[in-house]
Amino acid sequence: MKSKTQNLVFWTVVGLSMLVLLNLWTMPTRVAVEEEILFSDFMAKLDQGAVEKVTMQGSRLRGVLKDHTQVRTYMADYPDLVQVLREQHVQIEVKPSAESSWYMTMLMTWGPFVLFLGVWLFVMRRMQNGNAALSLVKSRARMLTEAQKKVTFSDVAGIDEVKADVQETVDFLKDPRKFQKLGGRIPKGVLVVGPPGTGKTLLAKAIAGEAGVPFFSISGSDFVEMFVGVGASRVRTLFEDAKKHAPCIVFIDEIDAVGRSRGMGLGGGNDEREQTLNQLLVEMDGFDTTEGVILVAATNRPDVLDPALLRPGRFDRQVTVNHPDLRGRSEILKVHTKNVPVAADVELETIARGTPGFSGADLENLVNEAALRAARQNKSQVWAVDFDTAKDKILMGTERKSMMLTDEEKRVIAYHEAGHALVAKLLPGTDPVHKVSIIPRGRALGVTLQLPTNDRHNYSKEFLYNTLAILLGGRVAEELVFKQVTTGAGNDLERATALARQMVCEWGMSERLGPLTFGQKEGSAFLGRSFSTNRDCSEQMAAEIDLEIKRLIRENYARARQLLTERMMTLAALADALLEKEVLDAREIEEVLLRSSQQGVTYSAVS
Ligand code: ADP
Ligand code: ZN
Repeated sequence: MKSKTQNLVFWTVVGLSMLVLLNLWTMPTRVAVEEEILFSDFMAKLDQGAVEKVTMQGSRLRGVLKDHTQVRTYMADYPDLVQVLREQHVQIEVKPSAESSWYMTMLMTWGPFVLFLGVWLFVMRRMQNGNAALSLVKSRARMLTEAQKKVTFSDVAGIDEVKADVQETVDFLKDPRKFQKLGGRIPKGVLVVGPPGTGKTLLAKAIAGEAGVPFFSISGSDFVEMFVGVGASRVRTLFEDAKKHAPCIVFIDEIDAVGRSRGMGLGGGNDEREQTLNQLLVEMDGFDTTEGVILVAATNRPDVLDPALLRPGRFDRQVTVNHPDLRGRSEILKVHTKNVPVAADVELETIARGTPGFSGADLENLVNEAALRAARQNKSQVWAVDFDTAKDKILMGTERKSMMLTDEEKRVIAYHEAGHALVAKLLPGTDPVHKVSIIPRGRALGVTLQLPTNDRHNYSKEFLYNTLAILLGGRVAEELVFKQVTTGAGNDLERATALARQMVCEWGMSERLGPLTFGQKEGSAFLGRSFSTNRDCSEQMAAEIDLEIKRLIRENYARARQLLTERMMTLAALADALLEKEVLDAREIEEVLLRSSQQGVTYSAVS
């Protein structure tokens, strides 16, 4: 903060001085209200004896007339001018030819020097800032002391097992000496693994909060700088700082940014990161837990971490936080609605049921969006409908109502989404269709949203097979109705292909290839792993994998095509309803399907 204000002051001063200089420079032409006249007119005035004073400057001639008007003109090379002026008893003032010259000279000779001085002073200041040689080296860690809003375990909901796991760490931080006496070995580092938004940072803060110790937080990416050696010195400074404040927690977010496996980068260009990682390892080995500094690191990619980080005496404790289950979501909602006036029709349990797959951060966001919506509508409480709308917004993205689509485009989108939705409705065992919309949101032109009724932890082959058909249903509908296809299905195809590949290569779901896995998990050199997907199978096998993927896609394309061809009327009814209402919820979709089946069109779930 301090250096930011200094920065501001410095540049303000520079800017102001520039302005003043510029002003001085251009002043003469700006202040004078003079009339430009012909030289002959001037001579005439002179002959009339109307001129009181002249100022000569190069070929510029300024005159003040007896009636106080000011005139100016250019001088002819007229040798007798001075003679005439004298005869008329005019005051004569002569100035060096270019009026601005002394400013210019000043600027030219002193400017660079002043600038240099300024820069030098600036750098000096920054160097003094803190005791490190250069502020670059400063650890960048933000320290959160007890004074700041304290987070405790009561703020962390739905992960009781994890809380129990780290309780020991809390107890230790509360009274390091007690543990020392008993000689128990306390973990030096706790690695918290889990997807984004599941409360890893929150947990680390809560550990510090429960124990009442300072909390240093830094992100792994803060260590990775352009200059070699900076990251390593930052690590050093961080640990020095932390030791001064022991007992304390040092939290490293996204540790995978520094902690990726060494020696796997492209062309050895990762010196800086490796140095930083080495320094981190050295520091971790170099301090005793008895000093009371405990490291907590978070990552969602434990698989890319350098094994050295996970060795005993380093991050030897691992806890995993996952997306919360139904009860967890319920509890997290409870925590976040504590200070929100919730209306009587809101049941947190129901909201939790309707938000499978939401992380803690998503749920916090949900409550926040709902409250904002209620506030915008001047309600005094947040109602269930606010939560519902907020949920759709989070799931499908914000509506882009301003996007102008032609009627033809809308029709294509309506049929596309109707295709997804109808295939989903027809195939058994798939997630219920929650909503279909043809309002553009984010990058998507339309959305068909399915929501599972329960948390899913495991997917059957049949479920995935059906998912492929649903994904392809959009493109099929376009093709059937318009006899042409658009780019709108690009993302669907990408997802379908990726899913088919996973089914074949990861989950062994191809009968022809059998229950085998192929190829390493994806990962590129930039993520610190192997250069390309390591092929652990023969060329022939690779070709067969491709064939299998193609077969899965083909089969399901044909399946979706068959389903929709038999129900063109229903498809049209759904698309029309979409064009009319833009958004259909589960009940409305059901109604459309029912109506078209009463009109004698076949609508029955197939199996
Ligand atoms: P991560 O570090 O895993 O990406 P954060 O700890 O930054 O996630 O979580 C972001 C926010 O989400 C938190 O500030 C908190 O408000 C909310 N949150 C996440 N998980 C939980 C939880 N288990 N209980 C309560 N709030 C949570
Ligand atoms: Zn689609």
